[in-house]
Amino acid sequence: MDVDTRLAEDWVRAIAAAVEREEERLTELDSAIGDGDHGSNLRRGFAAVLAVLDGPDAPAPDGGPGAVLTRTGTILISKVGGASGPLYGKAFRAMGAALPPPGQPSADPGGLGEALAAGLRAVRDLGRAAPGDKTLVDAWTPALDAYREAVTAGAGLREATEAAAGGAERGALDTVPLEARKGRASYLGPRSVGHEDPGARSTALLFRALAEATAARTADDRAEGRAP
Ligand code: ADP
Ligand code: MG
Repeated sequence: MDVDTRLAEDWVRAIAAAVEREEERLTELDSAIGDGDHGSNLRRGFAAVLAVLDGPDAPAPDGGPGAVLTRTGTILISKVGGASGPLYGKAFRAMGAALPPPGQPSADPGGLGEALAAGLRAVRDLGRAAPGDKTLVDAWTPALDAYREAVTAGAGLREATEAAAGGAERGALDTVPLEARKGRASYLGPRSVGHEDPGARSTALLFRALAEATAARTADDRAEGRAP
């Protein structure tokens, strides 16, 4: 299976559902070491993305997967406040730019890996956080590593996205003992230790959503006889 326009849209919809479901948890995490707005920031942003996907100005079905992610990023930049809006917004725009344009409608697992890497590079270029600084970089980095390792070992999209979701989950949990060195939580210094980073948790949701969307699509393709 490849990454096409429909899968990109399914992914974004799965993220929107996850941030809505987990808003309170993200808020609690951000209340402990930030200002408590991470859940509402992301819920508002992805609700705006859904409104566009469901509206008259939705990206064209034959526009390629990149167009969906680029548009998502643009909306996040305009609708989400705080540090995470521009970070996620740029990440989605970078992933969109790395995926095929219209006319080349889908990307293989290696192509998605390049897009996920471009997303992480965009976050790091803008936020200047390194692994270990207790930010969303600490979830995205092991997700990408696990994804690439799976693809190198011959995994298809489904297995590779599942590996990425596992990597992000471990990365988010591993932020608990870290001291924050970037963003609002860094003002707390050693008092940021002992709490999971809210952005790392939302990145884990994002990669879990990718694995879920891919698994659901694989099941649909099988039912419709398009895949073995
Ligand atoms: P704000 O901190 O402005 O209220 P949010 O609450 O929406 O923004 O997002 C906070 C999350 O943003 C943090 O948990 C962290 O993961 C992420 N973050 C903050 N600063 C940076 C940075 N410089 N680089 C990467 N991620 C960052
Ligand atoms: Mg906040």
